[in-house]
Amino acid sequence: TADVPDSHPRAASLRTRDRLVEGLENGLTSRTGLIAHGRGEAFDYLLGERTIPSADRAARAAAAHLLAADHPVISVNGNVAALAPERVVDLADATDAAIEVNLFHRSAERIEAIADHLRAHGATDVHGLAGDGRIPGLDHDRGICDADGIERADVVVVPLEDGDRAAALAELGKSEIVIDLNPLSRSAQVADVPIVDNVVRALPTMAAHARELSEAGADLDGVIAEFDADAALADAERTIREGSLAD
Ligand code: ATP
Ligand code: MG
Repeated sequence: TADVPDSHPRAASLRTRDRLVEGLENGLTSRTGLIAHGRGEAFDYLLGERTIPSADRAARAAAAHLLAADHPVISVNGNVAALAPERVVDLADATDAAIEVNLFHRSAERIEAIADHLRAHGATDVHGLAGDGRIPGLDHDRGICDADGIERADVVVVPLEDGDRAAALAELGKSEIVIDLNPLSRSAQVADVPIVDNVVRALPTMAAHARELSEAGADLDGVIAEFDADAALADAERTIREGSLAD
């Protein structure tokens, strides 16, 4: 891996791929995670590999939700752990959120590896191994979470979540923030706040907004109320269909 010259037009994208392949080699990422990433890359290409204005507004609303929450939780899977561990930890710091490792294919070994990796990047308290909570409506393995993590959370951030789990979490009445490059994905469609952006860009954007909103003592409920999820999804889809230079 490595050695991608800065001048390469896909430099950022290729470095991101390198991180994911490394994640696979280190036991963080699953093989199917590589395929999911490929789907995301295609949408990112069409969006111009940048944070579109509506995604920035979504990230701001998401930050307001996290700051206003009693028990905010950021869910981390193998792709997110490989791509952006330091950015997860920084967002957790900026919003006082807990971190929970939650995998599509649950394996204690991989949860441990991911938790270790997050700790190596500064995380102090990582949930996910207890598995003593349940998300109703999902088959056994898929419904496992931590009782003092996702189960009791009032706001959850689920980057790259699978559609069924995203829908089940929404059913529970939690405020759900989804980061997903595909605005047509069921996950994005069921979210209270869909952020149509690459997780490597969305996490620091959310952290920056959180710090700005806190420092300004902003009216969080106002920021939350003025966000329109359907409009954000429609804007992302329009950008993809009309070409990324249209706005
Ligand atoms: P649906 O939500 O329609 O049921 P799915 O969840 O089964 O689809 P997957 O391919 O399993 O689809 O999920 C991967 C999702 O994650 C895709 O929607 C893809 O766009 C998104 N994705 C992949 N990599 C990233 C990334 N780096 N940043 C943001 N989103 C990403
Ligand atoms: Mg999905």
